[in-house]
Amino acid sequence: MKQNRLKFPLLMNIVCVLFLFSILTHIGCDSNKSSNTSKDGKIRVVCTIGMITDIVKNVGGDKVEVIGMMGAGVDPHYYKPTMKDIQTLSSAHIVFYNGLQLEAKMGEVLAKMKGDTQTIAVTDSIDKAQLLRPDEFEGQYDPHIWFDVRLWMKVVEKVRDALSEYRPQDKTIYQENAENYLAKLSELDQYVRTQTELIPSEQRVLVTAHDAFNYFGRAYGFEVRGLQGISTATEASIADVQDLATYIVEKRIPTIFVETSVSTRKIDAVKAAVNAKGLEVELGEPLYSDAMGNEGTPEGTYIGMIRSNIDTIVKGLTREMSVTEED
Ligand SMILES: [Zn+2]
Repeated sequence: MKQNRLKFPLLMNIVCVLFLFSILTHIGCDSNKSSNTSKDGKIRVVCTIGMITDIVKNVGGDKVEVIGMMGAGVDPHYYKPTMKDIQTLSSAHIVFYNGLQLEAKMGEVLAKMKGDTQTIAVTDSIDKAQLLRPDEFEGQYDPHIWFDVRLWMKVVEKVRDALSEYRPQDKTIYQENAENYLAKLSELDQYVRTQTELIPSEQRVLVTAHDAFNYFGRAYGFEVRGLQGISTATEASIADVQDLATYIVEKRIPTIFVETSVSTRKIDAVKAAVNAKGLEVELGEPLYSDAMGNEGTPEGTYIGMIRSNIDTIVKGLTREMSVTEED
């Protein structure tokens, strides 16, 4: 029974992959790409997650045309490129993606594009010794590095260097833009540290729907517990929910958090299990984890997203809570 259920998606996956490959083969050579800039003289850049799109906008300025594939609320672990995405990708001069298996369903499409388009994993330049490799991710690196602002600044340097290499005549512009943006990120990092000080150290515990916040925890001194594994593709069991509920009660954690790109169903179950144990835990406002907020809002930028998260965390973890004492 189980085998039959598995066979169908496998077959569908193979059909889909073959289909995507045939499209790529046909449209691999896009007329927009005949030179190393588009008609208006700009480098055409396509990015996967919004946090990378934001870097390219800031560093490339008006020398680049940037297209972000994944908008607000999109989960990159599950994202499968559409036909339109593949056309967009194939028209790009440079494609920037996170790497470290974040865009797990795009691996084959990106691999197929190599040679025709520059595909750059922005996390490639980071020293592996600085990356986390939690046990539950079975030997893989944790891809959510944007939560450590200082580590994410290395990605800004990577984008600056890649654009400079692609078009050396604009190198000074990219350098100047990057310097300005890096200064803002330095301030942002300091803001997160200052806000963290508002939370008593024993209350710096972050419970979320999935394990996206390990780099945040390491950088800013929080203990982090996620219900799902590093990827949202792994499911939490009833035992996981109960374990987490016991931990929350023991630590007297006032607020647990949901994320904009992950379903709230499981974290709701944790809340119910904690309440059943007599502790009135609350769900905080949603955190931005793997996607930024809507375009045009403050949270629709990397800086706004990180600021919003730390403000939400401070508000939630400094909340007074009531406990129903058991007899
Ligand atoms: Zn994630």
